[in-house]
Amino acid sequence: MNSFVVVHRAPWLLPICHPLMEDGGIAVSKGKIQGVGRFSAVRHSWPGARVIDHPDAVLLPGLINAHTHLELSHLAHLAHLPAPASFTDWLLLLLAERAKAAVNIETATERIAAAASTVLEAQNKEGVAAVANISNTGLCFNLAKDFNGRLLCFSEYIGLRAEAADAILLSLQSAADSQLCTGHAIYSTHPYLLRGLKARAFRLGHIFPIHTAECAAEVELLRTGQGELRDFLDQRGWWDHSLPLAESGVVTYLHRHGLLDSKTLCVHCVHIDEAEADLLAAAKAKVCLCPGSNGYLGIGRAPLALLRRKGILPALGTDSLASNPELSLWREMRLLAAQNPSLPPAELLAMATLGGAAALGLDDQLGTLEPGKDAVILAAELRAPASTAEGIQEQLVQQGGRCPLYWL
Ligand SMILES: [Zn+2]
Repeated sequence: MNSFVVVHRAPWLLPICHPLMEDGGIAVSKGKIQGVGRFSAVRHSWPGARVIDHPDAVLLPGLINAHTHLELSHLAHLAHLPAPASFTDWLLLLLAERAKAAVNIETATERIAAAASTVLEAQNKEGVAAVANISNTGLCFNLAKDFNGRLLCFSEYIGLRAEAADAILLSLQSAADSQLCTGHAIYSTHPYLLRGLKARAFRLGHIFPIHTAECAAEVELLRTGQGELRDFLDQRGWWDHSLPLAESGVVTYLHRHGLLDSKTLCVHCVHIDEAEADLLAAAKAKVCLCPGSNGYLGIGRAPLALLRRKGILPALGTDSLASNPELSLWREMRLLAAQNPSLPPAELLAMATLGGAAALGLDDQLGTLEPGKDAVILAAELRAPASTAEGIQEQLVQQGGRCPLYWL
């Protein structure tokens, strides 16, 4: 029986659920992790197993990209333009470029699929094992079969008008249970529609990603009914006073509307305060940070230290190529490292793995190296390995994506 077990050995092994260990071994059989520990102990437990050495490598779980929009991959030129003057300037440009590209729908579909496919291929090469893709066209859903990892595709609904909400919820009654559905954001989606979508997600047991407090204008709209987002909605004829104004922030709004629980994934959370971080922690809601996209759009930085103080381990997401010049979770980690110099690199690596797996409801299969989980294991060959655990993890964050990476 042991002949079916393979033991991978590496000078460093980072299970995430335990501290980095020296001379690690991981026993794998039939795609599942059987045992993890010091190589000598693992070897002792599986004496007949074949041993594969990975000299100079650090073994770690595959990364999780908890938020992107593959269907915007053909708009990569946007994030190479000078930063927009405001969030809504970017939104307007995005919508205009999207419409321009869709003039010939057949060629547009092909272009989008090709661009998204290239993105997914690059994600896998960078060590990404699972991606949460948000779409309001469904264009990239058929790419799951081409991705050597898990691709969770969410149909995202938008609509501030009550009658649109009714029509959408009615149509979803005949949708297959396998179709994952979610709402875009509180400023674009009627609360009745959000509650219906959340109730459906709850019934089906899947996560509910929602853009949350991404820009200051979102909070301003909620509090005053005014600001650049109001102007944007007015211009497009979408504003119909259906957003109930509140004295609070966006997380509080989600909580009051019954939208916040352990399967809600609040994406961005840039403009939240301490009371809202408490709400997120109490609900065990998940948070996904997208520092690359936030940085390009110039909309601020999520309060990572506050979230960590409240015991929240955020996930990381690249968002799309339309707001991020590079879709790399390693770069997202480096951006956070630069913005939070006192944050240990082990926490960044935990966010990109366990944080993401928990956010997507996949933490029983992915996110850590421990017995019973999928053997989705990444080997990173550091160019100049350090001798301490802290130093190794620092190098991993700084070199990851630039040093040789391979899947076991
Ligand atoms: Zn997004």
